[in-house]
Amino acid sequence: MAEIAATLYNRNVNGINPTKISEDLSAAIGHTPLIKLRHASEVTGCQVLAKAEMLNPGGSIKDRTALGLILDAESRGTLKPGTVIVEGTAGNTGIGLTLVGASKGYRTIIFMPETQSKEKIDTLRMSGADVRLVPAVPYKNPSNYAHQARRAAEAMNAAHPGSAWFADQFDNTANRDWHEKTTGVEIWEETHGKIDGFVASAGTGGTLVGVARALKAQNANIKIALSDPAGSALASFVEKGELIATGNSISEGIGSSRVTANFADAPIDLAWSIPDTESVPLIHRLVREEGWCVGGSSGVNIAGAIRLARMLGPGHTIVTILADAGTRYQAKLFNAAFLREKEIPVPDWMNAV
Ligand code: PMP
Repeated sequence: MAEIAATLYNRNVNGINPTKISEDLSAAIGHTPLIKLRHASEVTGCQVLAKAEMLNPGGSIKDRTALGLILDAESRGTLKPGTVIVEGTAGNTGIGLTLVGASKGYRTIIFMPETQSKEKIDTLRMSGADVRLVPAVPYKNPSNYAHQARRAAEAMNAAHPGSAWFADQFDNTANRDWHEKTTGVEIWEETHGKIDGFVASAGTGGTLVGVARALKAQNANIKIALSDPAGSALASFVEKGELIATGNSISEGIGSSRVTANFADAPIDLAWSIPDTESVPLIHRLVREEGWCVGGSSGVNIAGAIRLARMLGPGHTIVTILADAGTRYQAKLFNAAFLREKEIPVPDWMNAV
């Protein structure tokens, strides 16, 4: 696996990059910049850093997940030329699977809740995915998008064995394994091991748990925190062992009502439930003062990073994730009327534009 990763990242196994040419889209995924968040660092006296995952070719951290799942399935023989990739997703994993799929010759069928942003749906259609929008219902309902995707793949395989592969990002632990081998290793190397805490939100849990495992293996004292959006049951699960959700959030792709296989046995030390009134203003501030335009889950991550930095005290280094770009949610996150309706503070400059 190490050699596969080394090849993908266009290094040879001795760590020397012989050329600067990425052979294909897969080779351009990962090795994102680790950037300093100025405001978050100044208000806490810590060094708050973030992996700029919106700079992946498909625009989100889920490009990594898509690549990890595809490579694993290819190595097992469940995905081979002619097989169609089928997945249920809030959008970003579908975009990653469709783009990596395009570069490798696979088509995709993507089931997605109809409540997700138009920008993500448009991107998927434009990239060639067969998009099936379904009502947004909880996981316990058989019409949930993940169940519909699994059943569609099963029906295709019943008619034509081997014609479909269900990627199963939530319960296929190749997801967190890939983050452990790539995202987590990059963070350890880029900080030269000088890291005191890592914070992220969880959808599948692949990012948080994969990175947590990589970091804890190096230094068990590194604090791992879950930054959970309001309306998700995961923070209460980490804190009290019970899945209780309160409130709601406009963030997409994060939060869960259940413990996925990727989230199970997570080495997480603490968790917070973050309201939109805390996370969204951080996004607005970030683009106007530091130039990074990020989506809702990144706001939840930054809020968590500030809380962890305050808890540990000045002088510590905290790392988090900028998962995707704000342009993917422009009609919601940067729309004064929408924000007002959700009782989220509207910055003065937004009223003026
Ligand atoms: N942020 C965004 C924007 C996402 O789309 C996702 C994945 N759905 C996440 C965060 C969470 O990542 P993970 O699935 O690895 O927990």
